[in-house]
Amino acid sequence: MKLIKCRQDYKCYSCEGKISKGDLYRKKSISVGSPNRPDKIIRKENGMVVFEAQGFRFDVQICSLCIAKEIERQVAA
Ligand SMILES: [Zn+2]
Repeated sequence: MKLIKCRQDYKCYSCEGKISKGDLYRKKSISVGSPNRPDKIIRKENGMVVFEAQGFRFDVQICSLCIAKEIERQVAA
Protein backbone atom coordinates (compact mmCIF):
# COMPACT_ATOMS: atom_id res chain seq x y z
CA MET A 1 0.00 0.00 0.00
CA LYS A 2 1.40 3.32 -0.99
CA LEU A 3 0.61 6.51 0.84
CA ILE A 4 0.95 9.76 -0.94
CA LYS A 5 1.47 13.15 0.57
CA CYS A 6 -1.15 15.65 -0.45
CA ARG A 7 -0.12 18.51 -2.67
CA GLN A 8 -3.56 19.98 -2.78
CA ASP A 9 -6.82 19.60 -0.90
CA TYR A 10 -8.89 16.55 -1.70
CA LYS A 11 -12.15 15.10 -0.53
CA CYS A 12 -12.11 11.55 0.78
CA TYR A 13 -14.16 9.29 -1.46
CA SER A 14 -15.13 7.06 1.46
CA CYS A 15 -16.12 9.44 4.29
CA GLU A 16 -16.28 12.67 2.28
CA GLY A 17 -13.94 14.22 4.84
CA LYS A 18 -11.41 16.78 3.83
CA ILE A 19 -7.85 15.70 3.07
CA SER A 20 -5.67 18.74 3.62
CA LYS A 21 -2.48 19.63 1.90
CA GLY A 22 0.39 17.75 3.56
CA ASP A 23 -1.82 14.91 4.83
CA LEU A 24 -1.26 11.34 3.76
CA TYR A 25 -3.78 9.71 1.53
CA ARG A 26 -4.14 6.75 -0.73
CA LYS A 27 -5.15 6.66 -4.34
CA LYS A 28 -7.70 4.06 -5.26
CA SER A 29 -8.80 3.11 -8.71
CA ILE A 30 -12.54 2.71 -9.12
CA SER A 31 -14.10 1.15 -12.16
CA VAL A 32 -17.63 1.65 -13.31
CA GLY A 33 -19.08 -0.84 -15.77
CA SER A 34 -16.53 -2.89 -17.68
CA PRO A 35 -13.66 -0.62 -18.72
CA ASN A 36 -11.74 -3.60 -20.11
CA ARG A 37 -14.42 -4.43 -22.63
CA PRO A 38 -14.05 -2.77 -26.00
CA ASP A 39 -16.39 0.04 -26.90
CA LYS A 40 -19.62 -1.01 -28.52
CA ILE A 41 -20.05 0.24 -32.03
CA ILE A 42 -23.58 1.27 -32.81
CA ARG A 43 -24.58 2.03 -36.35
CA LYS A 44 -27.56 4.31 -36.47
CA GLU A 45 -30.27 4.29 -39.09
CA ASN A 46 -28.98 7.48 -40.66
CA GLY A 47 -25.56 5.87 -41.19
CA MET A 48 -23.94 7.54 -38.23
CA VAL A 49 -21.56 5.43 -36.17
CA VAL A 50 -21.55 5.87 -32.43
CA PHE A 51 -19.12 4.37 -29.96
CA GLU A 52 -20.55 3.39 -26.64
CA ALA A 53 -18.04 3.02 -23.80
CA GLN A 54 -18.67 -0.09 -21.70
CA GLY A 55 -17.19 1.46 -18.61
CA PHE A 56 -14.57 3.80 -17.31
CA ARG A 57 -12.00 4.00 -14.59
CA PHE A 58 -11.10 6.89 -12.37
CA ASP A 59 -8.92 7.57 -9.37
CA VAL A 60 -10.33 8.57 -6.01
CA GLN A 61 -8.62 9.76 -2.85
CA ILE A 62 -8.96 7.93 0.46
CA CYS A 63 -7.98 9.65 3.72
CA SER A 64 -5.66 8.05 6.27
CA LEU A 65 -8.55 7.50 8.73
CA CYS A 66 -10.43 5.41 6.20
CA ILE A 67 -7.26 3.49 5.32
CA ALA A 68 -6.87 2.63 9.02
CA LYS A 69 -10.50 1.48 9.17
CA GLU A 70 -10.00 -0.62 6.06
CA ILE A 71 -6.92 -2.30 7.56
CA GLU A 72 -8.83 -3.02 10.79
CA ARG A 73 -11.58 -4.67 8.78
CA GLN A 74 -9.09 -6.82 6.93
CA VAL A 75 -7.39 -7.87 10.16
CA ALA A 76 -10.74 -8.70 11.78
CA ALA A 77 -11.91 -10.76 8.82
ZN1 LIG B 1 -12.08 9.16 4.74
